[in-house]
Amino acid sequence: MLSLSELKSLLATPQKIVITTHHKPDGDAMGSSLGLYAYLIQKGHHVKVITPTDYPYFLHWLPNNSDVIIYTEEKKKADELVANAALIFCLDFNTLSRINELGEVIRSAPGYKLMIDHHLDPEDFDDYRHWNINACAAAQLVYDFIINELEDGAYMTKDIATCLYTGIMTDSGSFRFPSATAAVYRIAADLIDAGAEHWRIHQLVYDNATENRLRFLGHCISNKLEVIKELNTAIITVTAAELNEYDIVTGETEGIVNYALSVNGIRLAAFVIERKDKVKLSLRSTGDFPANEICRKYFNGGGHKNAAGGVSEKSLADTVDYFKSILPEYKTQLLL
Ligand code: 5GP
Ligand code: MN
Repeated sequence: MLSLSELKSLLATPQKIVITTHHKPDGDAMGSSLGLYAYLIQKGHHVKVITPTDYPYFLHWLPNNSDVIIYTEEKKKADELVANAALIFCLDFNTLSRINELGEVIRSAPGYKLMIDHHLDPEDFDDYRHWNINACAAAQLVYDFIINELEDGAYMTKDIATCLYTGIMTDSGSFRFPSATAAVYRIAADLIDAGAEHWRIHQLVYDNATENRLRFLGHCISNKLEVIKELNTAIITVTAAELNEYDIVTGETEGIVNYALSVNGIRLAAFVIERKDKVKLSLRSTGDFPANEICRKYFNGGGHKNAAGGVSEKSLADTVDYFKSILPEYKTQLLL
């Protein structure tokens, strides 16, 4: 274990540092990582962000994006960086299986592992933990880490603020989930004061779709949405052939599940997608309905109560049938 004062004294001199985040990084994963990166390089450290996989083009505009190393593309270099790092920050995930092959590389690395995360059930692999499941985003915890733990608010820059705002905006559903508390709005205001251009960030993330992506969304809503009224559940199912037909790339399916949840009365929404070697499920729910319990019990996954995910080894059609067969068990909660 590493205490805060030990960490502070380590950070008082230039260190070799690696920052990593989860598989298929989203806005919070990249925003928190590049926000911490911008802070640490400003402090004179030698820092690299290593992502386990690639991530969507609508995040490529983030400050210092060109410095990111993608593990699947530069394994040897990344392995060396991890082996030589004094500190390894793990952001927006808390089990090493969430970062694929990179997980075991990090587990056996000699450097201190620091977890900054807001997911349930952390695995015990870290030496320092800034973890709070009530935080709306890992980026909120990075803000808190810099401002309140390291007491280094003087180092807040436009780049840091831009990245952290992006993480908070994306993970809070543009400040509309219950996790977007008054405190989160105050942090957002502080980040805007520090130079984050909230209108521009929103535009770059959300008004940046390819024509194909928008047509694909239309197809999902018109042709693929199944509403099971008697169980307040809506499902959108997508085949690999459809992804191919619309030329859908990493990240472009993100958020589609929310359209299913936006149907009046729906408590549980599922987006079921046929990937190369498996079927992936994204669940969203409202109120106290435990989407993560379904993912944990039946789909080898997990997540938050209202946003969870998992996988299935069955075919796409069998996965959807299996999912539907589970619903009656939750009937009472679905009809609340
Ligand atoms: P999404 O539906 O956007 O892929 O994921 C929503 C949330 O569910 C993520 O923030 C993450 O907490 C969780 N999640 C998604 N997929 C998995 C998975 O395969 N395993 C686990 N444990 N959690 C997942
Ligand atoms: Mn997050």
